Amino acid sequence: MRLEAEESRFAEAHLLRVVKTERGSAVAHPCPLFIAKSCSVYTERPRRCRLFRCKTLRAFEGGTLTEGQALERINVLQKRIELIEPTVASESRSAFWWAAALMSDPSTNTEQRAHLSAIFETVLEDLTEFRGLANDWIASPEDLTQWSYD
Ligand code: SF4
Repeated sequence: MRLEAEESRFAEAHLLRVVKTERGSAVAHPCPLFIAKSCSVYTERPRRCRLFRCKTLRAFEGGTLTEGQALERINVLQKRIELIEPTVASESRSAFWWAAALMSDPSTNTEQRAHLSAIFETVLEDLTEFRGLANDWIASPEDLTQWSYD
């Protein structure tokens, strides 16, 4: 997310990790200010955040999607996040990291490795499906790059 020159104080005040790019300052995502499913600094959010219109919002504003359909999409995505997040959480007891640790353990036998591979496949399938939905309904990486730097 690109920051305007005058927004450097906002970044400092909220301890955001600012990276310098060829086109100016930017904040790396995921944004740490997104807390409990919403923006914790909504009224003072940066200009780029105010300008952003996801694909679902644009479809609703353009009349090709009803409010109910738009909310249903958000509901579907939130449910998917709730399903996936615990399995990839970066703490040692999540299924994904537990499986990764066992895979790299030389004493793990072939049968156990096959079981662990099945866990990876399930998690990766969930992630791939989620990415597809997010690309279609929210924004593709190209959309985000264009929005962030146009
Ligand atoms: S809207 Fe808020 S939570 Fe989202 S990227 Fe901007 S500052 Fe972060």
